[in-house]
Amino acid sequence: MAVRPLPARRSPWASAWDLLEVRWAGLALVLFALGGIAELTGAASPLWWALYLACYVAGGWEPALAGLRALREKTLDVDVLMIVAAIAAAAIGQVRDGGLLIVIFATSGALEAFVTRRTADSVSALLELTPDRATRVHAAGEEVVDVAELEVGDRILVRPGERIGADGVVVEGSSEVDQATITGEPLPVLKSIDSEVYAGTVNGTGSLTVRVGAAAHESVVARIVALVEDASQTKAATQLFIEKVEQRYSVIVVIGTLLIVAIPLIAGAAFQPSLLRAMTFMIVASPCAVVLATMPPLLAAIANAGRHGVLIKSAVALESLRGVEVVVFDKTGTLTHGSPLVVDVVQLADHSADDVLAAAASAEQHSEHPIARAVVAAARARRLTLSAAGEFHATPGRGITARVADRTLRVGSPLLLDELSGAEAVRPSVVDLEEAGHTVVAVIVDDQPVGLIALTDEIRPTSRPTVERLSADGLRSILLTGDHALAARHVGDRVGVAEAYGGLLPAHKAATITALQDEGRRVLLVGDGINDAPAMATADVAVAMGRGGSDLAVETADVILVHDDIAAIPATVELAHRAHRVVKANIIFAACVIVALVTWDFAGHLPLPLGVAGHEGSTVVVGLNGLRLLRRHVWKADAT
Ligand code: ADP
Ligand code: MG
Repeated sequence: MAVRPLPARRSPWASAWDLLEVRWAGLALVLFALGGIAELTGAASPLWWALYLACYVAGGWEPALAGLRALREKTLDVDVLMIVAAIAAAAIGQVRDGGLLIVIFATSGALEAFVTRRTADSVSALLELTPDRATRVHAAGEEVVDVAELEVGDRILVRPGERIGADGVVVEGSSEVDQATITGEPLPVLKSIDSEVYAGTVNGTGSLTVRVGAAAHESVVARIVALVEDASQTKAATQLFIEKVEQRYSVIVVIGTLLIVAIPLIAGAAFQPSLLRAMTFMIVASPCAVVLATMPPLLAAIANAGRHGVLIKSAVALESLRGVEVVVFDKTGTLTHGSPLVVDVVQLADHSADDVLAAAASAEQHSEHPIARAVVAAARARRLTLSAAGEFHATPGRGITARVADRTLRVGSPLLLDELSGAEAVRPSVVDLEEAGHTVVAVIVDDQPVGLIALTDEIRPTSRPTVERLSADGLRSILLTGDHALAARHVGDRVGVAEAYGGLLPAHKAATITALQDEGRRVLLVGDGINDAPAMATADVAVAMGRGGSDLAVETADVILVHDDIAAIPATVELAHRAHRVVKANIIFAACVIVALVTWDFAGHLPLPLGVAGHEGSTVVVGLNGLRLLRRHVWKADAT
């Protein structure tokens, strides 16, 4: 297969032309210009009237229909106000001013559509970057297949310069890979055996064989795109509030307009100038820019975070991230890698250490818990034979029970021992291991403790810098774990978390969060396990580890860290702050323009075209301002 060239990037202008709004606005502009020329060159007035009216239709039919649809649902939106103003202008002979209003209004509508589209495009452009085909290798040779046909476990060959067709792990070769599309890192990253690679990234000069780790529709890129699409369906709380206010406000604008016409009329003034002034008022007082102030910046921020491996599920989640004051970390799988190793097996009865491990591993086969995986892996490494287990039952945060060879096996927290009689003798061994910083699980057969398994779990190198950056940003960190208090203390000391609590059941974790909330704190929880789900549901914002996390955690969370990179948390909170600042600036700017123009209209004489230009201009500025959050350098994860 030849080296595949990069897909040509479509220029934003080309994709703008795809939008119907843009085409109609263009037509309205042309008709308006023709009308203007005809009027100025002294053509017969029916001719330029006809051209202007055609411009009304081209630019106005869409907003008019939208406005009528809204009216039928008893809501009054700005579209209606604009159309009424234009028609009224024509009625009093100001057909050119009305036409100008239509043209600018249609143009700003087109820009609005463009802004929304551009946000979505910048994300789905990522999808276009994934190649359609990949070279699958198997014993018989190579074949070129559709990436959609690739299955987990397939091997694909990526030649120099090619785009990688699927998420997976390198099993052969080494090469530098340009991952800028996904992580934004400008420099290529060296990939060798066991490195993870992502669909859509560009291979450098080496050749790689990759074992496919996810089907095409589940790749990181595909998930980012789906997520931003879903997020754009959700409305931020600010947006909902604005829309509610827009309703009442529009009614006030209409009443104001009627008064501006009526009062001078009653006082005996001329009708025409009052109507003109009223129309100008109606236009400049309309909240178009305010309506566009919120969602584009939030969506742009969500898209930006997505590119950096942080999937934010909704606009509401992004808004709540901003207020976070306390970050609660789970220990296992979050601050630690969550791939513990068995370091010691202690026999308590007449069972050998291998018997203890084999029994524990047999019972743990059905568990998804990191400890379970470690125990099973250790048994396999010692080539022990595992027996079949039945009646498996897990108690999150405590341990598991299963039937193995007609015995009831329990594997779990040493707290289980407290429920047994005569287990005091075991206590000292437990304490010894715990004081050495190990996680200890007890193995119990038919209510008899038969052994202890000690495990260690490596702390992620990013944990300490993350905690330090959070505290530099003024956030408080807390560690909660189902593991014993000594282990909590041990890890807490190593990562710099002063408040570390252990021995907590899932419900206790949730209760701790509720207690913080009762103190008026906004709490973010980061976790990975089934045992974290209740706490996640309680927290103001829940963050799940995307790779190592359980499905339930990923499902429950508001934010998913695709690469399990907790260092992204401070950066995400910072991004939420920035997005909020942009939204606030937008709303203030839009409101100031309205106040200024309305004041001008009342105090002096604001010419209609100037009012239209000021009003629509502010709408455009607000829309474009939101797009700033799409830029890469807004993301500051490297500051750690
Ligand atoms: P964390 O809060 O650190 O993520 P968990 O709540 O998942 O930890 O687990 C707390 C404790 O419960 C573990 O330290 C262990 O003692 C016990 N435990 C939970 N699940 C299992 C299991 N499948 N096998 C053995 N022990 C378990
Ligand atoms: Mg955990």
